Amino acid sequence: MRWMLMVLVLMLMLMTAGCAQDLSQLGPIKLSDEHKLTQPKLEYFGVAGFRLRWRDEAVVFDPFFSRPSPLQLLWLTPDVKRIKDGMPRTPEATMLLVGHAHYDHLLDVAWVLNHKTPNATFYGSRTAGHILRAEVSAEREFEDAEQKMAWLPGPNGPRPIAREDGWFKSKKGAFRAMPIQSSHAPNVTQIDLMGGSYQQDLKTLPKSFRNWKEGQTLAWLVDLLDENGKTVYRIHFQDSSSEEPYGFPPDPGDNRGIDVVILPVASWIQVKRYPQALIEATQPKLVVLCHWEDFFSGDPDDLKVLRGEKDEYALYRIVRTTLPQASQIVMPKPFSEIALPPL
Ligand SMILES: [Zn+2]
Repeated sequence: MRWMLMVLVLMLMLMTAGCAQDLSQLGPIKLSDEHKLTQPKLEYFGVAGFRLRWRDEAVVFDPFFSRPSPLQLLWLTPDVKRIKDGMPRTPEATMLLVGHAHYDHLLDVAWVLNHKTPNATFYGSRTAGHILRAEVSAEREFEDAEQKMAWLPGPNGPRPIAREDGWFKSKKGAFRAMPIQSSHAPNVTQIDLMGGSYQQDLKTLPKSFRNWKEGQTLAWLVDLLDENGKTVYRIHFQDSSSEEPYGFPPDPGDNRGIDVVILPVASWIQVKRYPQALIEATQPKLVVLCHWEDFFSGDPDDLKVLRGEKDEYALYRIVRTTLPQASQIVMPKPFSEIALPPL
C-alpha cells in the first residue's frame, strides 16, 4: 500500500515536472564558464555545491554529484564514480556546510566526508547529522548547527537575531560560519513530500527520496578572515528559496554588509517576493545563481534547465532591477569558477 502511494506520488511529480528544458529557456542570460581564476574564488559543482578556498583552508557547501534519474528516486545510492570524478580531494577543507537534508544536497556528503575531505567537520541540522551517521563513524566530528542558529522571533519578522556566540570558527581561523533559521519552498507538486525530521542515528542511508527528510533548513553567513581575524569577505549562502524573512542575514553586530549572495533558483516562483526581498535586504556586490540546472541527468556536458522551473529569466530580471547598478550577477556552468568581487 505504502509503495503504491509512493509510486503514485512519484508519477504525479514526474508529470508535473515534465521534461528537462533546453538552455534557450534562459533567454538572453549568458552562462559564465570561467576557469583557472586566481583566489579567492568559488568553484561550482552544480545544484548547490561549491568549494571555497582561502588562505590554507577550504569550506565545502552541499556537494552533490550523483544526479540520479527520476526512475532511481525510490532506490537512491550515491554514484561513487560521479563523486570521484566531480569532487576534488580537499584535505585542507575544515568545514563542510549543508543547508537541508534532501537527497539533492545530502546524498553524497557521507562519501565526500569519508574520502575527499578527511579533515572537515560537518555542520548541519540534527536530522542531517542523524542521516549521515549511517555511513560516518562516531569519532568524526559533527556540529549541531541548530544550537547556534540565528533565530526568528516570529514568522513575519523582523529579521533573524544572531546568538551571542553564533559563529563556528574554522580550525585554522581562515573562516567563520553562522547558521540562520530558514525555510524551504514547496516543490512542484505543492505537497510537502519530503518534510519531517529524524531524532535518532540511522543504520543505513535512506533509499527512497521521501526519506531524505528536510530537517531544519538553514542559511549560512560565511566570513573569510585575515590573519588578524578581521572579515575580508562576507558571503550569504542558502540552498533553498525561502519565505521572507526566513534565512535573512542577522546583524552580527559589526555593521558590515554582505559581499556575495549565493541564491538558489529552484522553486523560486512558489515563494512570494523571492528573491526580491532578500536582495533588497542584502544589496550584495555579487549574486551567484545556483540550483538552476536539471539535476536528474548525469551529464553536466549536456546542460538543461531544471524541469518544472518557470522562466528563470524573470528571476534574473528581478535580481537585476533590485541590485545596485554596479553589482554583478553570475549564473555559472557546473564545474566552472566564479571570482569574488574586488575589494
Ligand atoms: Zn530541498
